[in-house]
Amino acid sequence: MRILLVEDDNMIGEGVSVALKDAAYAVDWVKDGEAAEQTLKSGEHQAVLLDLGLPKRDGLDVLQHLRKVGSKIPVIIITAREGVEDRIRGLDLGADDYLVKPFDVNELLARLRAVVRRQGGQAAPLLTNGTISLDPSTHKAMCGEIVADLSTREFALLHALLLHPGRILTRTQIEEHIYGWNEEVESNAVDFLIHGVRKKLGAEVIKNVRGAGWMVEK
Ligand code: CA
Repeated sequence: MRILLVEDDNMIGEGVSVALKDAAYAVDWVKDGEAAEQTLKSGEHQAVLLDLGLPKRDGLDVLQHLRKVGSKIPVIIITAREGVEDRIRGLDLGADDYLVKPFDVNELLARLRAVVRRQGGQAAPLLTNGTISLDPSTHKAMCGEIVADLSTREFALLHALLLHPGRILTRTQIEEHIYGWNEEVESNAVDFLIHGVRKKLGAEVIKNVRGAGWMVEK
């Protein structure tokens, strides 16, 4: 899952980036409102963490524009502004949630999981398809009787596939889910991860569609 972080404070940005990567998200980080707007046009992110006090364009303007053009991407406002009015305005402009700085990064991760599963039309915390379940808060995967701890990347891979059961994801689509802009991707990285997940959960968990990509069957 790929997240856009919009934050002009380097220390907070670093901290949040590291925490997100540790939690298996791919993170792209921009530091002003204009860059945020440009980047969001690509549509390659699944959620936005949005600071409000930003250079070039205010976070509330970015949010307002995003909703005006019809984007449904989940947005969590992260802001130092104490004023309750900014938060109300943000929610009314289409934000899904907010956190006031300084915040506990674990709370941010929990709120992110919540908005993402709501976005997927789901309220239950486990992502389930047939006999496979995945717990986004622990990265544990279950398949029938098997319970396995997945590595960060293995989790990201299976999560991407389970979000769209029955849909084939190409190598490029999978890489986009798992890696941010600045990360080197080895040409066989995806094969390696798929091998890892199959070894832990059984070969039938991920289906290979020759020449097209991979899927989990619905
Ligand atoms: Ca700021």
